[in-house]
Amino acid sequence: MDIQQLKDTISHLKKEKNAYILAHNYQLPEIQDVADYVADSLGMAKHALSIQNDLIVVCGVYFMAETVSILNPDKRIIIPDTNAGCPLANFAPVEEVRRWRKQYPDYTFVAYVNSSAEVKAEVDICCTSANAIDIVRRVPNNKIVFLPDKNLGRYVQKHVPEKEIVLWPGFCVVHETADLEAILRTKEAHPRALTMAHPECPEEIQEIADGICSTGQMMDFVAKHPETREFIIVTEWGMVYALQKKFPDRLFLEPSHRMECKNMKRITLQKLHDALVEEKFIVKVADDIREKARQSIDKMLA
Ligand code: SF4
Repeated sequence: MDIQQLKDTISHLKKEKNAYILAHNYQLPEIQDVADYVADSLGMAKHALSIQNDLIVVCGVYFMAETVSILNPDKRIIIPDTNAGCPLANFAPVEEVRRWRKQYPDYTFVAYVNSSAEVKAEVDICCTSANAIDIVRRVPNNKIVFLPDKNLGRYVQKHVPEKEIVLWPGFCVVHETADLEAILRTKEAHPRALTMAHPECPEEIQEIADGICSTGQMMDFVAKHPETREFIIVTEWGMVYALQKKFPDRLFLEPSHRMECKNMKRITLQKLHDALVEEKFIVKVADDIREKARQSIDKMLA
């Protein structure tokens, strides 16, 4: 089947199976096109609570499907490719988190949602890149362990200097490759453009950005700058498609070095089609882990 035939069949299957497709902003353009809702991980988690359909297909990486499953234990959650993992989440295996908890007994553990369900069950509260500053600021304890992303943690530390934050030494293998020279060249070629960088980018990239935004916040940033016609986007390239679709009258530029998350791009139309036909692959979090992980997510959402 060609792309259009696959899109038509998926749309037909969606109705037939009463399925809902939830996709992340980093998904392939054709996946974003067939999705019912496209957002960042906070948007996906919040939206998942209002979905009435029995079958939810998560087009994103594995921890996102786990989060949706934790929030919707009575629904069938599927992911089209179980190998779509997140290398950043893999930086924090649960055994290591338990070891750190013993090492830092009087610290509050804040985990970025890019972590496994087991890790979410082990920490005190979750956060996303959109709300990390707020969450850390509101935690009553002044001593925090922030995991697993050191760049996001460092960004939070700058905004919440009154707290002592111990950083977990993890990073996103995609954002870590953001190329300073390539961004500076693009800025020079487009002097009126505003630069938006994701907080998972290294510090030197954050320093030259006009806005440090989660992917959801990038949408808001563009809406708040109606006079600006050009934006340089320093994050995974799926976001450029999502922005261009929402703001067709603006120009979104990638620096010459393209940032691609190979794991996000594992989800293809063909795999989505097969997942709907066979209702695979089911993602279900064990009850004991789900209940504890849910508490960390609920505290964040509250
Ligand atoms: S872009 Fe980075 S943090 Fe996001 S899924 Fe890919 S590896 Fe994980």
